[in-house]
Amino acid sequence: MELLNIYKDLCRNNRWYDAYCSTGENSNGKILYFLNTNYRNLWVFEAGYDVFKEIENIGRDQWIHHENHGEEKEKQHTVNMLKSKIFSRASNKYYRNKKGLAFGDMLDSDFSKEERWILIYLTILNGYFANIPNYINVRSNEIVNIMEKRGVNREKYISVLKSFIDSCDIGTEEIFMHDYLYFDSFYKEFEDIDFLQMFINAREDERKELKEYVQNQPRNREITKEETCTISYKYKSTGSYVKSTLVDNAKIQYFSLILLNNSYKNYEDFIDYALFRYNELYKNIDIDKIKSFIVDHEAVYKLIYEELFNIIQYSLNFRDEKEVNEQDVDLNEKIDDTDMYAVEKYNKVSTVLKKLAKVNSNYRCELEDFYGCQYFTSKESHKNYVEVHHLIPRAVGNDFENSIEVVENYVTLCPHCHRLVHLGEDVERKPALHNLYLKRKELLHEKGLDISEKDLKDYYLIEN
Ligand SMILES: [Zn+2]
Ligand SMILES: [Zn+2]
Repeated sequence: MELLNIYKDLCRNNRWYDAYCSTGENSNGKILYFLNTNYRNLWVFEAGYDVFKEIENIGRDQWIHHENHGEEKEKQHTVNMLKSKIFSRASNKYYRNKKGLAFGDMLDSDFSKEERWILIYLTILNGYFANIPNYINVRSNEIVNIMEKRGVNREKYISVLKSFIDSCDIGTEEIFMHDYLYFDSFYKEFEDIDFLQMFINAREDERKELKEYVQNQPRNREITKEETCTISYKYKSTGSYVKSTLVDNAKIQYFSLILLNNSYKNYEDFIDYALFRYNELYKNIDIDKIKSFIVDHEAVYKLIYEELFNIIQYSLNFRDEKEVNEQDVDLNEKIDDTDMYAVEKYNKVSTVLKKLAKVNSNYRCELEDFYGCQYFTSKESHKNYVEVHHLIPRAVGNDFENSIEVVENYVTLCPHCHRLVHLGEDVERKPALHNLYLKRKELLHEKGLDISEKDLKDYYLIEN
């Protein structure tokens, strides 16, 4: 009785209703916010790909605009395509990189819908959505931590996800009877009201009463102050939040939780395990065919694996670098960073640029004026030991038309300041970043890298 009454009361609160029915980035109603506004499941990547193929290598000024509001028709797809690194861009044109070409091969092969799902999932796993590298993994673990705080441990949460996925052929009305729907909907607190905790603490019969109430509410009814049912209205048949969204959220979280907290001998081991677990859920898929596709595109999938498990460490490189023959390196070449074998090329370019950055800075920390840095002498270079940091982080290079692999973006820092920039509290990182930004703003601009301080802070996940 009590749980249902609390819910009914809350539904009369307009702010609660807005918070949970909206699917905007900061709303409470969206568990995975990497998907674009108008599309809410993994098929957005298929749709986006098809749209982008049409405008490959066509300048942005040539894109078709909507007649009524003047926006480019393709614009809504750009975020996902770039953040998942399926397309890259050079000046104002978009093109398929190595990963994008593999994605196209996948769509052209006659994979079933279920076979395509796991391939899309694996392909976008190292995306940096919401400015977070490996977002899907990070976010899935965050949600589990939220659940654990409420006394739902990892195994229990995974089993709730699994039982929901197992029965996801059911109609929309039936989804209202699943715990997962309430977990997904109320994982965020609302103004100190922790409805999820109340739901978890309630007796079984109270939860059942709430679920049946939600199930029996007409979904299409216009909102009236006395009668709104937030959850049922959110799933109204003309709404943008549909059952397939929920199913996809559950599947994405389920696979991230069972796959990404394991350790693997190597990349093949990871792929085999992923396909084995997927096969448990979907018996009718052709595992050998999927496997052989992945093997054929090893350069792409191996890099995804290495980025996921941080085998490649781009950002925190605390070692003095080896010498590279500068004649071997073309600093003007834009490197395809979705290709495992291009990483070697990237490392060479980056080594040359790091050396150059250090020489330019005269082996001194660029925050020396502010922090009075101390040095020791490197036994490799016999100069001050300094490190080099990408001011615009390497992971977000695809957000820029021009290459961020330029010496203007390479900042020399002492070990103290370098760790501060990566690992410090926001209040301490903010002034450091501000000072670096002021020093580099103009230089970056000259290289066609225009960035506001606000956007830079966003990349460092610093709240304003
Ligand atoms: Zn760094
Ligand atoms: Zn310093």
